[in-house]
Amino acid sequence: CGIVGYIGTQAATEILISGLERLEYRGYDSAGVATVLEGKINCVRAKGKLYNLREKVEREHNPAQIGIGHTRWATHGKPEEHNAHPHMDAAMGVAVVQNGIIENYRELKEELISKGYEFKSETDTEVIPHLIADCLTNSQHSLLDAVRQIIPRLEGAFAIAVISADHPYELVVARQQAPLILGFGQGEFFCASDITALVPHTHTVLSLDNGEMARLSPLGVEIYNFAGDRLNKFPRTLDWNL
Ligand code: GLU
Repeated sequence: CGIVGYIGTQAATEILISGLERLEYRGYDSAGVATVLEGKINCVRAKGKLYNLREKVEREHNPAQIGIGHTRWATHGKPEEHNAHPHMDAAMGVAVVQNGIIENYRELKEELISKGYEFKSETDTEVIPHLIADCLTNSQHSLLDAVRQIIPRLEGAFAIAVISADHPYELVVARQQAPLILGFGQGEFFCASDITALVPHTHTVLSLDNGEMARLSPLGVEIYNFAGDRLNKFPRTLDWNL
């Protein structure tokens, strides 16, 4: 139900969890965060209140500077920890959060199972990390290219954020009929389903439109349409008192 993402100069986990807390009002049944550190994804999820997630992540110091987070309102699969986002392709080290519904997930799931991919959840979302992993296998694709290639296969209204163990300087997001806002800081960049999660960090924002995706890196933000054309867009400054 809520997405947050961060790449930049600070430790990501606290920024992600406090961002999710600001999206709590949207409602949720479980939550999770994933970060990339030293070539590995660290994914922590918990059923119930964000407090449960916070307690789990605070057990270990995690200096990772890139990550994604999610509060889930279950549509496909019970509200249990194994259905909470982020969902992963563990072998390839790809982690994904999704807002919305992937309507054709059953066909995609069958296809991926027949190729040998193992599913750990009952969600519609888990097809996405496996599709991306399949695209990255034996290819030199950037994460952006891999996400762009699989997007035409997804039917439904969704917003996604993706990170990968092998692409530690890329956070890729895409929007199709579900909100996604980018936030621009100094050497740090954010994404969220809602401006409220961004305002403690920056007032410079840009709403992605349907059919747009972005690559956030420590050096900046690039925006593309799903055909792969780079788009030039100006952010705007919010008139918002903290
Ligand atoms: N359909 C997805 C799920 O059930 C995402 C739900 C949401 O937007 O929170 O996991």
